[in-house]
Amino acid sequence: MDLRFTPEELAFRDELRSFFQGALPPAIRTKMVEGKRLGKDDIVTWQRILNAKGWAVPNWPKEWGGTDWTPVQQYMFQDELQQAPAPQPLGFGVTMVGPVIAAFGSEAQKKYYLPRIANLDDWWCQGFSEPGSGSDLASLRTAAKRDGDHYVVNGQKTWTTLAQHADWIFCLARTDPQAKKQEGISFLLIDMKTPGITVRPIVTIEGGHEVNEVFFDDVRVPVENRVGEENKGWDYAKYLLGRERMGIARVGTSKERLRRIRELAAAERSGDTPLIEDERFREKLAAVEIELKALEMTQLRVVAAERKRQGNNKPDPASSILKIKGSEIQQATTELLLEVVGPYALPYQPERNEEGWNEPPIGPEWAGAAAPTYFNWRKISIYGGSNEIQKNIIAKAILGL
Ligand SMILES: Cc1cc2nc3c(=O)[nH]c(=O)nc-3n(C[C@H](O)[C@H](O)[C@H](O)COP(=O)(O)OP(=O)(O)OC[C@H]3O[C@@H](n4cnc5c(N)ncnc54)[C@H](O)[C@@H]3O)c2cc1C
Repeated sequence: MDLRFTPEELAFRDELRSFFQGALPPAIRTKMVEGKRLGKDDIVTWQRILNAKGWAVPNWPKEWGGTDWTPVQQYMFQDELQQAPAPQPLGFGVTMVGPVIAAFGSEAQKKYYLPRIANLDDWWCQGFSEPGSGSDLASLRTAAKRDGDHYVVNGQKTWTTLAQHADWIFCLARTDPQAKKQEGISFLLIDMKTPGITVRPIVTIEGGHEVNEVFFDDVRVPVENRVGEENKGWDYAKYLLGRERMGIARVGTSKERLRRIRELAAAERSGDTPLIEDERFREKLAAVEIELKALEMTQLRVVAAERKRQGNNKPDPASSILKIKGSEIQQATTELLLEVVGPYALPYQPERNEEGWNEPPIGPEWAGAAAPTYFNWRKISIYGGSNEIQKNIIAKAILGL
């Protein structure tokens, strides 16, 4: 397998790089470099810049605003975006519900929702997990009972990321309580302004408000808001979850973070010498860099294999390997960053701005948000299907155990 890029691919990478350098607003870039939280406005602004360029939804079918980029070009786009570093487009729309609507939705749904997702006119959130139904998602209990041309939805979702900003939620709900658990589920699109929906914040370990509980109390959802067939929602959910995992490796994000760690370690001192010259520190840094290189090679192998799988809608089970290693490496970079900033990471005191986001920590500017990032990023090995569950998938689908 040849993993080298062609001259055309390298020229494409240069084009991406210079666009990201020129188009990314400096204030957003600074927040990204320093690991500070982005506001809703930052994410919407950047998405609209991408949309104006025609790059908002490169992974979608061309007729709905996608590009016909090859898997290598798609990979380069993600890698350069993450290294810029630019905000990741809101995955709930671009990577999750958008592709599901494009593949399984009605023409009316495609026409209405897809352009609005591309321009981030609608902020989407994901209503899959429930208390007691995370890894065993198919056991979910939120019920949608048919009443004429509506479903009446009752139940609770949890860990709903950024639901506080959301205009819409895509939900899995049980439409046939008698059927086998995977067979009685439907995929519904629900307007968050519908009466009967309550959103309550869950504050995470670093003091941030990122996840929520969402309650449904006799929420009336038009039947036309169901995607695809009734009771086939599990098939659409599996399609979506494979794509969610593909995006979690974030090789470019780790590359950028390691570059920043090198920069900071050159400025920080260990005794009389710069930290970057400390042998023990260099060993740890090199170990993570080597792991990251191996992950990048694995990602390229998945990308190369994807060329042969064109038209096949099933996600590559190797995306589970990318999820496990990608999350471990991202977490390792936050540990290194914490080591570099040392005691400067301590005086972190969460302060909320008017949107409910944490304000940057107190301390020298370059200390950035090392401590909150370290704590917050423990989540990466849990969301998108925990790493233990990914190991089960690898055992079954790749090793045949
Ligand atoms: C920050 C964050 C954001 C999230 N955002 C969203 C969101 O926007 N929308 C949404 O729907 N969900 C979201 N989730 C939920 C996420 O998908 C679930 O947390 C995840 O699937 C795990 O489910 P659980 O928390 O119920 O844990 P459980 O399923 O109860 O698992 C508990 C522990 O047991 C282990 N375990 C469970 N089953 C097995 C098994 N068969 N074999 C081996 N080990 C096992 C797990 O790995 C874990 O360590 C988010 C989660 C987090 C942490």
